[in-house]
Amino acid sequence: MKILLVSPEIFPFSKTGGLADVAGALPRALQKNGMEVKLISPKYRCVTEKDFSLEPVIGDLKVPIKNTIESASLWKTDYNGMEAYFIGKDVYYNREGLYGIEGRDYEDNAERFAFFCRAVIESCRQTGYKPDIIHCNDWQSGLIPAYLKTLYKDDPFFHHTKTVFTIHNIGYQGLFEPGLLPMTGLPQSVYNMEELEFYGKINYLKAGIVFSDIITTVSKTYAEEIQTKDYGAGLDGVLRKRRKDLYGIMNGIDYEKWNPQTDPLIYVNYTYRKISARKRNKKNLQKEMKLAYRDYPLIGIISRLATQKGIDIAVSAMQTLLKKHQVEFIILGEGDRQYEDALQSISRKYKNRVSVNIGFDEALAHKIYASCDFFLMPSLYEPCGLGPLIAYRYGAIPVVRATGGLKDSVKNFNPKKKEGTGFSFRAYTEDALYRTMEKALYLYNNDKETLNKIIKQDMKMDWSWEEQAKKYIRLYRRAIKR
Ligand code: ADP
Repeated sequence: MKILLVSPEIFPFSKTGGLADVAGALPRALQKNGMEVKLISPKYRCVTEKDFSLEPVIGDLKVPIKNTIESASLWKTDYNGMEAYFIGKDVYYNREGLYGIEGRDYEDNAERFAFFCRAVIESCRQTGYKPDIIHCNDWQSGLIPAYLKTLYKDDPFFHHTKTVFTIHNIGYQGLFEPGLLPMTGLPQSVYNMEELEFYGKINYLKAGIVFSDIITTVSKTYAEEIQTKDYGAGLDGVLRKRRKDLYGIMNGIDYEKWNPQTDPLIYVNYTYRKISARKRNKKNLQKEMKLAYRDYPLIGIISRLATQKGIDIAVSAMQTLLKKHQVEFIILGEGDRQYEDALQSISRKYKNRVSVNIGFDEALAHKIYASCDFFLMPSLYEPCGLGPLIAYRYGAIPVVRATGGLKDSVKNFNPKKKEGTGFSFRAYTEDALYRTMEKALYLYNNDKETLNKIIKQDMKMDWSWEEQAKKYIRLYRRAIKR
């Protein structure tokens, strides 16, 4: 089966969040299961020819857009025995950010990603590559199914091509002014409530949902939640209509990249057999981050600093925890200015107990997973949440709000039975978070035996991509049978 995986970000080429991890790891697992996979993404500034040994494939890829034909370039490189392709168009992609800069989206994102979608389709045609499945991810690739079912409907080239569309986060939809529709080249007739129209705007995510053959999202609970008014971000009705074609498949993580036994980015390597080595990682990190070394429980957060991630309740609960308990925090993230400022102000107040690191730092993320005792993710909503899965692998116990994928991945600790994989709470309040953190601290301070048992058990769980990739393959087959 020939699969083309389309993603606006793919690790290690580009990354802003979990989608990049998924797009980098799922193809490898698919390939191991016998699929012929190619990947395609924009050639952003960070995707340099030198760093990734890119070779030119087509110098003049013709892409119809804005009623004319524009030229793009197509590049490729080897990625673990697969071909990874990149659409080059400097005016659109040779920029500092992927989707925007300093928390603001680029103003021409409608055009940047309409162009990308059209270029993906044209690169198939112009290289003679006929995928069985085009697997699209998030709103940036949402127009691909729409183009295929409208402009390319009668093109025999794509007669046997089916589309799978994965929603990684329904909160990001790609909403644009309806006046931009002619720019995309789609017929005006798609601007109706059943198709691209969404409260007076065009909605790229909706295009993906409406026109793809199968829709997936990244956990079972999130697949249910997005069909409700509270979590559907306005698209719950559209999703309910397509509920028969909507599936939840939990993400895995890349077990080679995230492996405490071999990870070159952490201070000391270890396995579940020697969790005492985590202490040395912790001590080194505390030193590097100028945190006082005491055996206080270290709580880590690695997150985009967005409303979705529950940073507001985290900020409030942190202050109470710091006042009342012996704890230290290490935080890595970037995003909304208000959260960056609030966190930095706490770190000024608690100089050697709170380390706040604003920015995106892959190496530091690894060190934090390998060092912190608890990994905090109190999300307001969470499609999957890779953080706790990585935390498990490194023996950091997750503390999460039970929503979306977090509800599926974290089993709340039961003090009577001394069972669970982490700690979770339901109410989205500072108080619920605070009280749950207190339970975690209690375990840390009073029952090291159970704590260590949980760490070991968590490290031994399997959250790799192997089984999850098989679920995608079953869906690809189902799409093809139609
Ligand atoms: P989302 O995709 O919503 O951002 P996930 O938890 O699913 O959330 O995935 C986030 C991924 O990005 C994880 O691999 C996490 O370690 C990483 N990450 C998030 N913020 C940062 C950061 N500031 N620096 C380094 N890695 C980060």
